[in-house]
Amino acid sequence: MTQLAAQAAPQAVASDAPMFEQEAFRLTDEQAEIMARARKLGETVFAGRAAEFDRDATFPTANYKDLHRAGLLGICIPKSLGGLGADYQTYSLTAAEIGRYCGATALTWNMHVCSTLWSGPLADDLEMDAETRATHNARREIHYRRILKDGAIYAQPFSEGGAAAAGTVAFGTEAKPVKGGWIVNGKKIFASLAGHANYYGVLCTETEEGEKASRRNTLYLAIPANSEGVSVVGDWDPLGMRGTVSRTLLFKDVFVPQDAALMPRGVYYQAAMRWPHMFMTLSPTYMGLAQAAYDFTVKYLRGEVPGMPPVKRRMYPTKQIALAEMHVKLQQIKATWFQAVTEARANPSKDQVLRAYAAQFTTMEGANDLARLAIRTCGGQSMLKTLPLERIYRDSRCGSLMLPWTAELCLDRIGREALYNPGETDE
Ligand SMILES: Cc1cc2nc3c(=O)[nH]c(=O)nc-3n(C[C@H](O)[C@H](O)[C@H](O)COP(=O)(O)OP(=O)(O)OC[C@H]3O[C@@H](n4cnc5c(N)ncnc54)[C@H](O)[C@@H]3O)c2cc1C
Repeated sequence: MTQLAAQAAPQAVASDAPMFEQEAFRLTDEQAEIMARARKLGETVFAGRAAEFDRDATFPTANYKDLHRAGLLGICIPKSLGGLGADYQTYSLTAAEIGRYCGATALTWNMHVCSTLWSGPLADDLEMDAETRATHNARREIHYRRILKDGAIYAQPFSEGGAAAAGTVAFGTEAKPVKGGWIVNGKKIFASLAGHANYYGVLCTETEEGEKASRRNTLYLAIPANSEGVSVVGDWDPLGMRGTVSRTLLFKDVFVPQDAALMPRGVYYQAAMRWPHMFMTLSPTYMGLAQAAYDFTVKYLRGEVPGMPPVKRRMYPTKQIALAEMHVKLQQIKATWFQAVTEARANPSKDQVLRAYAAQFTTMEGANDLARLAIRTCGGQSMLKTLPLERIYRDSRCGSLMLPWTAELCLDRIGREALYNPGETDE
């Protein structure tokens, strides 16, 4: 962080309009306030720092300090435990506002927030017997306290390079039960926040001696980053989302105590089966990037981009048509996405699940399409590295690659699930 960016930003005044107007989208005052808090931080602080994190592929640590101060690390922690008590929709709308200004911050913040969203409001919708629920509630309080009091950051490394993160086979990272906890061994690739999170929310398979690995035995454990046997290896020099620092994590005979469990035994599997929108939480970042590409184009054509000569290009009919095309696409993405994040719930109907896949696909592919159109419309000078558009273009390209709902897998599922009912075959 240069001193210049750190000092200059907080004095700036926020001026961007909300992405989702309170009245038009029927949002409560409380939702609008949380979103405004994120938008103000994004516009006046994160936007000014984003180029540096991107250029150097460094983690946005300073942004996390601000998120903690603003209460946003605890956005989904219940109010009764000191958090903001946001539900799925509120979280999604707020994350989109952050993604508008810094993709890497929004994407990593998603990994952090999921540890509280999944163990919080989402787990409250799932079935547990009274004793399991009581144990879960006591454990999650430990995690929530760390986040609210100490600003602890949680990562969410699932990916292993094989089919596990796609949701088709059991995770190769194994947790062997021992007295007082588990011994974990394995490897996670693309572990965003590697080396910067205080806890790694690892998905792994609980395996007894001689037992076959099963997805039903998936555990979700918050492994302290400073545990013996945890190491971060490899480089991180990707095309986009460079500030996520998604390096490789190794776990070698790591002892993990029982209270590290973010969900009780069997509950992650139940969530994956009954609360499918849990896998859509990466999309708000890209909803924000789509809006950013559009906002940039409007400012650019009006000659209002800071640091650029005030040359107007809005009077050319070709530019007006191009912007109109972008506007139509943006509205299509917003409408589909808003509907899907609004209806997220346990046991959704078939139609709701298909719509969630469609919304994920539309947002992930659409954000990059808007960035492409923005560059074509604004022209050569707009893609210089002194401006945010080329970063938006690179960051938005990453959305379709995120498992388990990659663009390809969304299409696979829509095609299959629209044509077959559960259990149906052609025999
Ligand atoms: C910027 C960035 C940040 C990331 N951060 C995280 C993170 O914090 N945590 C995390 O867990 N992951 C993260 N990921 C990883 C991401 O979710 C994917 O796991 C990763 O992009 C997959 O890369 P791959 O080359 O192994 O992909 P792929 O080869 O596309 O997928 C891996 C495997 O999934 C299965 N698969 C893929 N497509 C299909 C298909 N069409 N049909 C059936 N099976 C299929 C296959 O077995 C395949 O070998 C991040 C990725 C990026 C780009």
